[in-house]
Amino acid sequence: MSTDSNFKLTYSTMFNPPEVMHTRFSDAVTQVKAHLGREHAMIISGKDVFASEKFEDRTPIDTSVVLGVFQKGIPADAAAALAAARKAWPGWKNTPWQKRVEYIRKAADLMDQRIYEIGAVMSLEVGKNRMESLGDVAETADLFRYPCEQMEEHDGYVVKMKADPLVGLTSTNTSVLRPYGVWLVISPFNFPGALTGGPTAAALVAGNTVVFKPATDTPWVPRLIAECLRDAGVPEGVFNYVTGPGSSLGQALIDSPEVDGITFTGSLDVGMRIFRNFAQGRYVRPSILELGGKNPAIVSKHANLDDAALGIMRSAFGLQGQKCSACSRVFVEESVYDALAERLVALTEKIKIGDPLEQDVYMGPVVNKGAYQDFQDYCREALEAGAKFLTGGKVLTEGAYAKGYFCTPTILADLPESHRLWKHEMFEPIVTITPVKDLQEAMRRANDVDYGLTAGFYGTPDEVEWFFDKIEAGVTYANRPQGVTTGAWPGYQPFGGWKGSGASGKNSGGVYYLPLYMHEQIRTLVTKPGA
Ligand code: NAP
Repeated sequence: MSTDSNFKLTYSTMFNPPEVMHTRFSDAVTQVKAHLGREHAMIISGKDVFASEKFEDRTPIDTSVVLGVFQKGIPADAAAALAAARKAWPGWKNTPWQKRVEYIRKAADLMDQRIYEIGAVMSLEVGKNRMESLGDVAETADLFRYPCEQMEEHDGYVVKMKADPLVGLTSTNTSVLRPYGVWLVISPFNFPGALTGGPTAAALVAGNTVVFKPATDTPWVPRLIAECLRDAGVPEGVFNYVTGPGSSLGQALIDSPEVDGITFTGSLDVGMRIFRNFAQGRYVRPSILELGGKNPAIVSKHANLDDAALGIMRSAFGLQGQKCSACSRVFVEESVYDALAERLVALTEKIKIGDPLEQDVYMGPVVNKGAYQDFQDYCREALEAGAKFLTGGKVLTEGAYAKGYFCTPTILADLPESHRLWKHEMFEPIVTITPVKDLQEAMRRANDVDYGLTAGFYGTPDEVEWFFDKIEAGVTYANRPQGVTTGAWPGYQPFGGWKGSGASGKNSGGVYYLPLYMHEQIRTLVTKPGA
């Protein structure tokens, strides 16, 4: 990405960006705000497609502002997009992988060039702070490049196997990985860049064509990514972008026999429903499901408490707690509980809440009215169960906050161990904290959930080894002030979950991911001497 410096933006480095990034972001905000309210089409077979019904995309910062008008696609649009992808597939799969890689890299470069514009739209649409927004776009570009590197490193996934021990004949055996066909990608609202781009790029590099549906709260960022693919010259029908409700348009996609494989990223509930529906087909089709989290932090009595408090604060409240990787449970050895809690409260109370387009704001609004209402309901429920707020527990409604969905970062203590909120993914700026008598108790409780996405630990090197060994999670961190459970980056921390957090057991942005988008074919050729 272009910052005129050697600075590489990741979620680990984003806390100290060069000043030029701020200037460019502010300029982009001005430009984007000058063109709000426009209508955006779906893209099917390379053409803009309009539906008879529309929906408005409003910013959660100020719900009186319409960001854009989008198409409320219907099942016929789902069918048209799938037909376009099917038609384009033979040409795309027969395009040499080197050429496919070229297209995807070109799209990544276009994303880099448009990072400030897409980042500004992201802040407006999701309510993400500016560095998180720029991070999401930069991550998307890296998620485009990563499968390209993997394809090259594995030379197109053609592997010579052992020859059969035949007498008088030669048998050559070759393993090749080949694309499935038409791949469906459905993404959630919180990372509309990365979770659109990661699965899409892997599917395309592998030689599949794609039909993509974004979350209804966040159609604009994916539309801009679709434009990068189109402008990179990706042939018509290879990537199709449709918008509309999950319950109708999304369901029509899920129910179609024209889908050969799916990557769904979203909640456990919706993911399980989709998984069951998808299983109604005539045979089993690959399903990559990236689902929710209930991510724990464990703090040992030997931990550096300043690092722990900082890492927990960042992971609990970054993006208003609406990350699948957000830290939502903290288990602290009792002798250091008060000291850790005091530090965590002090840092949390310094968080600036407000318009995420502004440079010094860490927390913007939650994404929509439902999330805003849920925040208040969870707080009430926890209080009624005997919990107390160490800080937070309120919504902000005055002045600049009046028209948005602003919640205070909330630390809940004394929530009874048996309470459902210890196990339920709230997806809010709420973290629950408790003292534990020892690390064994912390681990037992940390693992006692249906999820297994991310987890973090602070303690000694020996304790860290024990933590890595015992914790049930796909992404784990130790002694990390940048974020106890958040901040994965492709190629550095491949991202995926265990148990109810993910179905494939292989992490996006890692070495085992791209092959999920291809099936293996063994090619045996027997030749006679002299033939
Ligand atoms: P969600 O409610 O599960 O929705 C996700 C997507 O599914 C949206 O595009 C939604 O469309 C669509 N959808 C809903 N019903 C559908 C149906 N019947 N058929 C097809 N599609 C359907 O999730 P969210 O609230 O957007 O995102 C938050 C969740 O995502 C959290 O649980 C979070 O942990 C998880 N997440 C997981 C990861 C990961 O990598 N593991 C990453 C990020 C987020 P509409 O918006 O139109 O309803």
